[in-house]
Amino acid sequence: MKESNRIEILGIPVDPVTQEEALGRFRRLMEAPECSLIVTPNSEIVLNASKDPELKALITSASLIIPDGIGLVYASRIIGKPLRERVTGVDFLTAILKELESRGRSIYLLGSKPASEERPSVAQLAGEAMKKAYPDLKIAGTRDGYFKRDDEEAIVRQINESGADFLCVALGSPKQEQFIARNASALVTVRGAMGVGGSLDVWAGTVRRAPEFYQKYGLEWLFRFIQEPSRYKRMAQLPLFILKVLTTARDGR
Ligand code: UDP
Repeated sequence: MKESNRIEILGIPVDPVTQEEALGRFRRLMEAPECSLIVTPNSEIVLNASKDPELKALITSASLIIPDGIGLVYASRIIGKPLRERVTGVDFLTAILKELESRGRSIYLLGSKPASEERPSVAQLAGEAMKKAYPDLKIAGTRDGYFKRDDEEAIVRQINESGADFLCVALGSPKQEQFIARNASALVTVRGAMGVGGSLDVWAGTVRRAPEFYQKYGLEWLFRFIQEPSRYKRMAQLPLFILKVLTTARDGR
C-alpha cells in the first residue's frame, strides 16, 4: 500500500508526510492483511542506500518511508521539493505506542543489548517504561538483538506465538530492515514492523535522548557527537550527504 507522491533524494524515495499523516497511513497499514515494512531513513542511510542497490531496493519496498533527520529536510529544499516536516523515529514510535494502546493492540520489542548481571535486557526495560507511560499498552514479548542467523526461525516462532500486532526491531540499520524484509512473510499476526535504531535504548534510559534545545534546532547529531565522540566518522556523513545532494542538483542528475 504505497503512495504515489514520494519524492526522491539521491534516488532514494521518501514519503513527504507530516507526523499526523504518517500516523494516518500507519492506521491503514494495520488494517491490511500482510506485514508492512516501515522505514525511517536519515541522511546517513540515504547516502549509504544511494551506493547500495540492495539497500535501495529494501527501502523502496517499504510501505511507509518516514523522513527522519534534519539532513533530509535540507536536501528536500535543495532539490525544490520541500518536506513539510521532519518526523523523527523516536517521536513516531511514541505516536504508534499511543495508537496501539487506544486500539488494544500489542507490540513485540526485538533488539538492543541483552540482560547483564546489573540489569534486565534493554528491550525488557524499554517495555516496562512504555507500560508505565501507556498502562493499557500490551507488550506481547521482548527479546534482545544479539542472535545468530540460525536463531531467526525460533525468534519468528516466538513472535507469532505472542500474537503481536506490531513489531519494533532495534538492530541498527540496515540489519533491522533486512531482518523484517527477510521474515515479513513468516510473521502471521504482525501487521506492521519498523526498524527503530536506538529508540529502545532511549526508552530504557540506557542512552539519553537529546534535550529539547537540540531537538528544536535539528541538532540531535551534535548532542550524540558530544555523548559519543567515537561516532565522529558517522557524523561526517551529514556534510558529505548535503554536498552530494548539492552537486547532484547542480549537475541536474
Ligand atoms: N544492536 C543489536 N544487535 C546488533 C547490533 C546492534 O541489537 O547486532 C542494537 C544496539 O544495541 C542498539 C541498536 O541496535 O540498541 C541501534 O544501534 P545504533 O545506535 O548503532 O543504531 P543506528 O544509529 O544505526 O540507528
